[in-house]
Amino acid sequence: MTDTLTAYAQAKIDQLAASSLLRTLQPTWRTDGVFVERGGRRLISFSCNDYLGLSHHPEVKAAAVRAIATYGTGAGASRLITGDHPLFAELEARLAALKGTEAACVFGSGYLANSGIIPTFVGPGDLILVDELAHACIWSGAKLSGAEVIGFRHNDVADLAAELAARREAAGKALIATDGVFSMDGDVAPLDEISRVARAHDAWLLVDDAHGLGVVGDGGGTAKLFPQARVDLQMGTFSKAIGGYGAYVCATRPVIDFIKTRTRTVVYSTGLPPANAAAALAALDVIAREPQRVAAPIARARRLTTALNLPPAESAVVPIVLGEAETALSAARDLQAKGLLAVAIRPPTVPAGTARLRLAFSAEHTEAQVDQLIEAVRPWLPR
Ligand code: PMP
Repeated sequence: MTDTLTAYAQAKIDQLAASSLLRTLQPTWRTDGVFVERGGRRLISFSCNDYLGLSHHPEVKAAAVRAIATYGTGAGASRLITGDHPLFAELEARLAALKGTEAACVFGSGYLANSGIIPTFVGPGDLILVDELAHACIWSGAKLSGAEVIGFRHNDVADLAAELAARREAAGKALIATDGVFSMDGDVAPLDEISRVARAHDAWLLVDDAHGLGVVGDGGGTAKLFPQARVDLQMGTFSKAIGGYGAYVCATRPVIDFIKTRTRTVVYSTGLPPANAAAALAALDVIAREPQRVAAPIARARRLTTALNLPPAESAVVPIVLGEAETALSAARDLQAKGLLAVAIRPPTVPAGTARLRLAFSAEHTEAQVDQLIEAVRPWLPR
């Protein structure tokens, strides 16, 4: 006899499979910046977030190897116990300088950062306004906080202002949260206008720049595109252009000191492995030294958007929205048969009816590889 938990899981799986929404893990070897091996085949990947190819950069790897040889593989405890490796302070100082803030705090991951930071500053009786396409971990943090959570229309500053005008007075504190570069759409949030609305309504602004760091604003991230914008909490990750794992938030000294004493995902979670901090520092060195590498992902993305008559790419991410999940899966299978990996992105990662190929460009892609992708995608473009 099947127990009820197993029966529940099986019924859910059957239901997802029937609507082309079941996801399964595919073991994938990433042996360099661009090629992956899957199911016995070597494919050119346009699905990795390793925008600068730094996950396999010799200097970045060597820094991680050296740190492991010296400090071991793990932090040993949460940062407030014995896990506060001195490399974290070095990395935090570097990030604060890059972002122009007084201080920074590193985290185990981006998901941990957002789900920890948001409930640190807002709670029941407060208000959070979230761009409807913001990353899932912003929504998780918002829900965890117990504040009233309102989604505003994507990049629609008028809608944001209207929601604030209607709700701000009744709320205690207010926080606006958005991606800087949107992970599944590749577009950029109008941070100057959002910041102006935030000021006008006495709301704080959190920007998740996971996909902006190392790619836009000469590598400094989305806020660098909007020098007038005031972003109170500048969050980002080491898992994309930095080529590793972990995350950060940059802010004023008191905000960071409060996070370090209060944020549950800092206090109750083990410190980042020191080697991740060493790798991130080495990656930031490469970024500071190689502006051509930083400029390359957007240049590759624009090569495709120009050739296919799409709106010019604003980041390293270009969506080809195809509609139904089944269509996106068919397109991904067709590309795979041609030696290209572009994973189909389906609901609930993207809204229903907007399943897509999410194309991610790397500084390591050659123009010939991009041209191969252009020809493979062309027949799938909605007419
Ligand atoms: N924010 C954004 C915008 C992301 O795309 C992601 C990861 N895909 C995260 C946060 C989560 O970061 P991490 O993978 O480090 O948990």
